[in-house]
Amino acid sequence: MTGGLVTRFAPSPTGHLHLGHAFSALSAWRRARAVGGRFLLRLEDIDASRCRPEFASAILEDLAWLGLDWDGDVRVQSAHMVEYRAVLDGLRGRGLLYPCFCTRADIRRELAAPHGPEGPVYPGTCRRLLQCERDARIAAGTIYALRLDMGAALAAVAWPLRFHDAGAGTVHADPAVFGDVVLARKDMPASYHLCVTHDDALQGVTLIVRGVDLLAATHVHVLLQALLGWMTPAYAHHALLTDDAGRRLAKRDRAATLRDLRAAGRSPAEVRAMAGCPD
Ligand SMILES: [Zn+2]
Repeated sequence: MTGGLVTRFAPSPTGHLHLGHAFSALSAWRRARAVGGRFLLRLEDIDASRCRPEFASAILEDLAWLGLDWDGDVRVQSAHMVEYRAVLDGLRGRGLLYPCFCTRADIRRELAAPHGPEGPVYPGTCRRLLQCERDARIAAGTIYALRLDMGAALAAVAWPLRFHDAGAGTVHADPAVFGDVVLARKDMPASYHLCVTHDDALQGVTLIVRGVDLLAATHVHVLLQALLGWMTPAYAHHALLTDDAGRRLAKRDRAATLRDLRAAGRSPAEVRAMAGCPD
């Protein structure tokens, strides 16, 4: 039943695509097409301060130029905030989320704590607030983030939690090291962790092909899948493309964008080869 394979490419429209994106998109597209599966395209544009519509249209154009096609409509996350809110409300109703009023400076001051895979682990200050204190701060109009109560979440799922990665094999999930992760930011109604796991489940993605920089976050995603009754897909985290000096390609490196290569007269086949996906 390999025809049931569903992969996706899910960039954020914060800049133009570079060769690293081309590699990731081509890898996911080819895996699906090789077995008659489906390839989906999603724009992860929940961070309104960083995403721009012109980058979104440029992404579609660059991918089509590169020779990729996708199945169905492009899912644009900013059009689905109501769905993410409903998931958050459900978790909050189960007592798994709490409001965090801390500023970045507050958290820095509190921290004598070890650092997790995504930086400093939140010390849990607001988890210990009394309900009346929370109510009073919210009533006063203090803005807040929503954090997952990691201890409560770990107690609410059946263990062991694990996932399969094409490179790493079977991985036992250890989300505890992330601490109380933010699922809704003060400036954004939902976080990356929440939206990506929601959408992969909703869209029936069975294999997630993405950079190894997201392997650590998968530990949190597997926990969310267990909490929300969603299937855990298979993963294929790939190495990141680097430049000649061994530095990771980033959106700031204009020379590596697909549009610059195209403007310089490179053909799609040449760019596919440059991205490490020769025909
Ligand atoms: Zn807090």
